[in-house]
Amino acid sequence: MNSSLTAPLLQMTLRAEPDIFVLRQRGREVATAVGLEYQDQIRIATALSEVARDLVRAVGGADVAFRAAGVEEGSPVLRVDLAPLRPFGPAGYEPTSGAVARLVDTLDLTPVGGVTVIRMSRRIPAHAEALTPQRLAELRAQLAQSAPASVLDELTSQNEQLIAALDEVRSQRDELAVLNEELQETNRGVLALYNQLSEELEETNRGVVALYAELDEKSAQLKAASESKSRFLANVSHELRAPVTAVIGLARLLADSASDPLTGEQARQVGLIRSSATDLLALVNDLLDLAKAESGRIEPDWTEVDLRVVFGQLRGTLRALATRPGVDLVVEEPPSPATLRSDETLLTRVLRNLLHNGLKFTEAGEVRMRADLVDGRWRIVVSDTGAGIAPDLHERIFEEFYQVPGSTSGAGTGTGLGLPYARRLAMLLGGSLSVTSEPGRGSAFTLDLPVDGA
Ligand code: ADP
Repeated sequence: MNSSLTAPLLQMTLRAEPDIFVLRQRGREVATAVGLEYQDQIRIATALSEVARDLVRAVGGADVAFRAAGVEEGSPVLRVDLAPLRPFGPAGYEPTSGAVARLVDTLDLTPVGGVTVIRMSRRIPAHAEALTPQRLAELRAQLAQSAPASVLDELTSQNEQLIAALDEVRSQRDELAVLNEELQETNRGVLALYNQLSEELEETNRGVVALYAELDEKSAQLKAASESKSRFLANVSHELRAPVTAVIGLARLLADSASDPLTGEQARQVGLIRSSATDLLALVNDLLDLAKAESGRIEPDWTEVDLRVVFGQLRGTLRALATRPGVDLVVEEPPSPATLRSDETLLTRVLRNLLHNGLKFTEAGEVRMRADLVDGRWRIVVSDTGAGIAPDLHERIFEEFYQVPGSTSGAGTGTGLGLPYARRLAMLLGGSLSVTSEPGRGSAFTLDLPVDGA
């Protein structure tokens, strides 16, 4: 190791109270010389005088050596070793003021050549002048020359240092107060923002709640309206059925050969009454059916249904209706096994309705019904080669009482209730009813049904 690096910068003896002042003053000089900052100069000088006082009182003094250490390692520190005149007692050494240790980077007891010395150190800042061997030699020479000042001088300078330290404390306190003020202001701002946000949120919430309440009310009104419509239809049709049936019966009686004979004109008028009453009864019955389906009073009777049976029955009953010479009714045989879980009566009603319409609105060609199993669902299609329906009316024909203008001329009478009823029943059976059609080429109504019921 380079001895010009490790040799002490300054050595001195500490024996009595006045030496404490000298040590303090010289300590500060060394600190200044190696480049410690002003605050650190005062810190190490203060620490030295505290420890020195302890040593003078406890062991009668010490030999003190200042060194620059860690220079070669690139982390230079100012190190001070205080070797006590007599060894410490069994309890070792503990500074009287606990705060002393905080003034320096390290303060501990270290054995040096059989003696336990008190060693303290403080880091020399990087921007200080480099401590080359030459520079250290200069510092040693400089420190050896400067004579220690008197106790009074040191007291004066210590006073100045105290005032400077107080100033520093005050300015730090002022700074802290400003910071606190700013923090409080920021806090107030954040709080205001938070309040504003939560108010806005609350307002929005209130709006949403009100909106929902209105929506609930509207849908309740809608439901009530729809229910009362269905109830009204059901009641009226029910009340109408008896008198209309009576009218038909009376008309039949009048026309009966057992009654008094009618004139030709009377017979014609009675015939008109009878056919009008029959139409009216059909309408009343359709209305009653639809009202029942809409009010949910129809409960499907779920059983295993064989489509071949249903198709066979329809083929038989509708043959009587297919009276037009140029129109064929083709009911294809469904692929077997053709079973599904459904309500046979309701299913038959839907299909009859579709076939009936097909026959009603087809002048020439054919009306065909076929069933296919597609992706685990039954798809039953009733198609015809009739007049077809314009695309914008594809949904309207499922509305109650809607009839395509001009479509019924020559096609016989209708009520416009058949398709809405059929669609209702399809939904009750867990399926759907839709139409594809091209005017002039015909229509195809598709009933889509699950295999395993709803
Ligand atoms: P209705 O047959 O008693 O008039 P629907 O509800 O069954 O009542 O049908 C509504 C309307 O839809 C019919 O009036 C007719 O204009 C049209 N329509 C239904 N089926 C067909 C079809 N197969 N071809 C052409 N138009 C049809």
